[in-house]
Amino acid sequence: MAGKQESGAGKRVVVIGGGVAGSLLAKSLQFISDLTLIDPKEYFEIPWADLRAMVEPSFAERSVIHHKAYLTNGNIVTSTAINVTENQVMTADGRSIPYDYLVIASGHKEPYPEARAERLKQFQSDNEKIKSSQSILIVGGGPTGVELAGEIAVDFPEKKVTLVHNGPRLLEMLGPKAAKKTLDWLTSKKVDVKFNQKVHLSHIAEGSKEYATSSGETIIADCHFLCIGKPLASEWLKETVLRDSLDESGRLMVDANLRLKGCKNIFAIGDITDLKEMKQGYLAQKHSAVVAKNIKMLMSGRNEDKMSTYVPTSKAIAIVTLGRANAVAEFPFLTLSGFFPALIKSKDLFVGKTRKLMGLH
Ligand SMILES: Cc1cc2nc3c(=O)[nH]c(=O)nc-3n(C[C@H](O)[C@H](O)[C@H](O)COP(=O)(O)OP(=O)(O)OC[C@H]3O[C@@H](n4cnc5c(N)ncnc54)[C@H](O)[C@@H]3O)c2cc1C
Repeated sequence: MAGKQESGAGKRVVVIGGGVAGSLLAKSLQFISDLTLIDPKEYFEIPWADLRAMVEPSFAERSVIHHKAYLTNGNIVTSTAINVTENQVMTADGRSIPYDYLVIASGHKEPYPEARAERLKQFQSDNEKIKSSQSILIVGGGPTGVELAGEIAVDFPEKKVTLVHNGPRLLEMLGPKAAKKTLDWLTSKKVDVKFNQKVHLSHIAEGSKEYATSSGETIIADCHFLCIGKPLASEWLKETVLRDSLDESGRLMVDANLRLKGCKNIFAIGDITDLKEMKQGYLAQKHSAVVAKNIKMLMSGRNEDKMSTYVPTSKAIAIVTLGRANAVAEFPFLTLSGFFPALIKSKDLFVGKTRKLMGLH
């Protein structure tokens, strides 16, 4: 970084978070700024490909991508941002990184290992866990739990899969039609879906195969997977100069240009924002495009009134895969299930498309 600064080649742009939104933004600005990406992992991972990688670990070879593969002209700091001031970001490994423009894209907290090789091993060991179990308990009926149940039911139809959800229906972020179609499909694949109960995970003895639930049931399973929503990665901001930019649920409040309200040079993109729309990766990519344009414009000294604006999408499209050849899709005025929506997502899970966007084959 020092070299570029000395040459005065560009303004310093720091991106916090190398997920769907941050990685794309970093890629877009790497040749026209002095770009630094801060991420605790040395890789970008396509989150919606994870469930396929658990039943087919080689899938992760393409969906878990070294940051250095697409960020050939940026600085990669493999650490966690722990503090931010008006002009620098501090990281857990003791660095202070100055910025002219800051973009926060820290999305959700992920307990993933730093090294790509370790992450690939995790998929391998999840796969062995699935293969060596006759009965599998999935805790959580959101997209992660549903997609995992679908992958296992299709690739390992002989396994007994039980899915326990603490709410009254599956996929609560979608409408009841999508939930019903999903339940019907899972039931047709002999997945036992139980609603309105919690699994008491803290009470399980080492090696026990008995899982007690809040409604007094006992589920017998050889192993379990926890598929409950991950917390937002914004706790660290609460003690910083940006604390007043957080709303009650820990999201960053942005204006129409995706800048933090009241800040001239700090932007936020992706799931961490308070934009009133479904939290989707393809929308996070749209945020990246708007902010890339806006930072380019500000760097070139043009009038900030000309900055691009982002209008939250009230009609988001959501597709939840059900194994390799089925899916449930919610379009603005239509909910579909079966083969057609699967054509859009289920085979490749947008991995080719995402890689192309990142400039990779
Ligand atoms: C099962 C499932 C299926 C989905 N399917 C789809 C789909 O088909 N299509 C779609 O568009 N969307 C889909 N989504 C939603 C999509 O995954 C998210 O909207 C998207 O990942 C949001 O991107 P993001 O960059 O904001 O956050 P994230 O992807 O959560 O990335 C955040 C990054 O920030 C890093 N980070 C966190 N804290 C810090 C810190 N303090 N310092 C530095 N780095 C930090 C993290 O390590 C991570 O790399 C799906 C989600 C799930 C769970």
